[in-house]
Amino acid sequence: MKAAPFEHHEPTTVDEAVSLLESLHEPTILAGGQSLVPMLRFRLARPDTVVDINGIDSLDYFHEDDGYLKIGALARHADVEDNELIEDRYGSFADAAPLIADPQIRNRGTIVGSMAQADPKGDWGSVLIAHDGEVVAKGPDGERTIPADELFLLPYDTSLMEDELITEARVPTPAPGEGSAYHKLKRKTGDYAMAGVAARLVLDDDGRIEDAGIGMTAVDITNARAADAEAHLEGERPSADLFETAGELAAEASNPESDEHGDAAYKERMVDVLTQRALGDAAERAGAVKRRVTQ
Ligand SMILES: Cc1cc2nc3c(=O)[nH]c(=O)nc-3n(C[C@H](O)[C@H](O)[C@H](O)COP(=O)(O)OP(=O)(O)OC[C@H]3O[C@@H](n4cnc5c(N)ncnc54)[C@H](O)[C@@H]3O)c2cc1C
Repeated sequence: MKAAPFEHHEPTTVDEAVSLLESLHEPTILAGGQSLVPMLRFRLARPDTVVDINGIDSLDYFHEDDGYLKIGALARHADVEDNELIEDRYGSFADAAPLIADPQIRNRGTIVGSMAQADPKGDWGSVLIAHDGEVVAKGPDGERTIPADELFLLPYDTSLMEDELITEARVPTPAPGEGSAYHKLKRKTGDYAMAGVAARLVLDDDGRIEDAGIGMTAVDITNARAADAEAHLEGERPSADLFETAGELAAEASNPESDEHGDAAYKERMVDVLTQRALGDAAERAGAVKRRVTQ
């Protein structure tokens, strides 16, 4: 099937894009097109106008700046794969990127587009939650930041206004003693997650957990935070027993549905397992980061 006809606009600046979003009737933004184009082709989406942001060169970046890892709206999944900065400092990003879809989709699909799509099976939303990240949205009234916890409302629905463009997603740069990881269970290469867990730990000088972040994929109506598990970890020393209870608490906080990927009880059990694994890797990486910083 072919897409229904629509008007196509190609702004070259963010301001131009925002004024198009304000003036056009029910505009839809096109970034990587890896979710939108299939929806257009199957006529699940029938926008009157499409605002293609691929010509806005200023949105094509990811770098550390001003205490954040900043990810521009045109950074592709593949851009964070095999990248030294990411591998060295952002374990969860390095783990998640190669697990998304296949290389063709990773070459075009954007990290920010994935967050805007708000698919509960999307991997980046959980990473954003675990890192206490936020997105920067620009609209006719200027710029605002939306914390990860306030971004995802319902499946495929965010708190973004129709005339707002996400220009960037950002997470704080790692503190000394911080490590993170992402674990995902899927039936075969290229699949969406049956369940996924992003974990981030910050260890203090005494080796206790100062801060913890846990985001879950595909086991609730949106990417979700395992707040009780996080609270259980804080102030404690990393150990298998501690992580086992955190895994149980994360599983309790999850709310999976049975579907073609697996039944709900199995997915809940997998949240427990994946949480323990992600915490184990995050703790190991937190130690590694700490040693490097104090050398
Ligand atoms: C076969 C297949 C398998 C996949 N597997 C996975 C997977 O395992 N894990 C995973 O996380 N994802 C997966 N995806 C989705 C993929 O990651 C997409 O790239 C992503 O969901 C959307 O990013 P995009 O840049 O392609 O956005 P687009 O398709 O261009 O846009 C998606 C939506 O976001 C909106 N949007 C995009 N950018 C912005 C912006 N800057 N501001 C505001 N709104 C914006 C669009 O208007 C649209 O509504 C898969 C996709 C396919 C087709």
